[in-house]
Amino acid sequence: MKISFDNSYAALPAPFYARQMPAHAPAPRLLAWNDGLAADLGITRDAEEDLAEVFSGNALPQGADPIAQAYAGHQFGGFSPQLGDGRAVLLGEVIDRQGTRRDIALKGSGRTPFSRGGDGFAWLGPVLREYLLSEAMHALGVPTTRALAAVATGTQVMRATGSMTGALPGAVLTRVASSHLRVGTFQYFAARQMLPELRQLYEYARARHAPDAGDPHEFLKSVIARQAELVAHWLSLGFIHGVMNTDNTSISGETIDYGPCAFMDVYHPVTVFSSIDTQGRYAYDNQSAVIPWNMAQLASSLIPLMPDQQLAVEIFTETVNAMPALIETAWTARFRAKLGLRGAEAEDHDLIADFLALMQANQSDFTNTFRALGSGAVEDHIADRAALDAWRARWHVRLALQGGLDAQGAPSPETRAAMSAVNPALIPRNHRVEAMIASAVEGDMSPFHRLMKACSAPFSEDAHFADLMRPPAPSEVVGATYC
Ligand code: AMP
Ligand code: MG
Ligand code: MG
Repeated sequence: MKISFDNSYAALPAPFYARQMPAHAPAPRLLAWNDGLAADLGITRDAEEDLAEVFSGNALPQGADPIAQAYAGHQFGGFSPQLGDGRAVLLGEVIDRQGTRRDIALKGSGRTPFSRGGDGFAWLGPVLREYLLSEAMHALGVPTTRALAAVATGTQVMRATGSMTGALPGAVLTRVASSHLRVGTFQYFAARQMLPELRQLYEYARARHAPDAGDPHEFLKSVIARQAELVAHWLSLGFIHGVMNTDNTSISGETIDYGPCAFMDVYHPVTVFSSIDTQGRYAYDNQSAVIPWNMAQLASSLIPLMPDQQLAVEIFTETVNAMPALIETAWTARFRAKLGLRGAEAEDHDLIADFLALMQANQSDFTNTFRALGSGAVEDHIADRAALDAWRARWHVRLALQGGLDAQGAPSPETRAAMSAVNPALIPRNHRVEAMIASAVEGDMSPFHRLMKACSAPFSEDAHFADLMRPPAPSEVVGATYC
């Protein structure tokens, strides 16, 4: 196999990373391979055994220069000056078919100098969860890291917490990202007052992600703009990241680090899945409040680069304080589209909020209710018929303003088609993900492959996947997720 590496991060000075070989996997076996992504990266399909050797970390492809990246981060609000890749190595970068630089990294490939107390490994469950969820997010149109390969290592990993505990099958995920730069990467150098390195990082990140930014303030604004769009996009799909620590907030604006993330079934604004998020800091609704906080940490890290730091504090504060309005605008645009609304009217915000309130009061399934509003029977999802009819009357009046109704006064085919293009019929539901993992542990990968196939076309309704579209029965609900 040939990968045309073009490594830039490994050319940065020593404090940015530690050189680290991946651990040896005694019996690597390829579980999943992403042909489409591989083609984008110019990687040709090889024999499965060869792919398993390379993407377990056993055989380094020519040109790879494996490093564990240094970063810091606020975890649940508390600052850790040193985190870093404790169970991952960056193999290197390639320039993809679109001319974009992409990182290729192994996750679960053994200990590094940043491992602290951890074993450096990953078990099959989180590897398949990240593979499926990140590819599903991509198919939904959300900026995200991608999954290239999943390989079982043939080792056992001990885990004491989670839905499964004890000795579990080890695995390695190959993650592809437009970079692994995080807010925490900036915090690492800012906290150490390593100014030359901080400046070098800024120049590197600017070249890679914001080449038009003229100074750190413009750079900050570009990251804020991307993150505002990203979080609004998550909210529009009922996605809950679960660990929005600053080390899991990317500079590129991609969703990164799929841990205890999940899509909600029943709509409720304070939904939390993550077992470690005991305070609900990263609850569904709180994500829009947390991301400006994370951007404030990026802003603080960039201030030392400004010539007049007192002035910079003022300007950066203003910029961060303006972020909620950006999120609100992005959120409103996403939810307008979900209701089939074109243009902007003063009543739109209330119309959206009132529909969400209706869903909350009726314990409606987030995904299926929006889908049914455009292409089904929404009555089946909102039991309070009088309240639904009252809301629907207002919605129709609003649609009429844009010529969005048919001759009978119902949403027109165009309106419905526009809604079905943004309201997915299918998301990777948490109970299905958990069941898929349980099967994979037993050696049956077919639920994984079936879920992958279904989630690759989330906006179409394929009768073969009707079971995957159904919300969990009360006995099937999986309320907690683990990293
Ligand atoms: P995460 O919660 O995945 O964002 O990880 C937070 C930090 O813990 C990062 O520095 C990870 O590299 C590190 N970490 C997580 N799991 C492990 C592990 N099994 N071994 C070593 N380090 C880990
Ligand atoms: Mg992380
Ligand atoms: Mg993680």
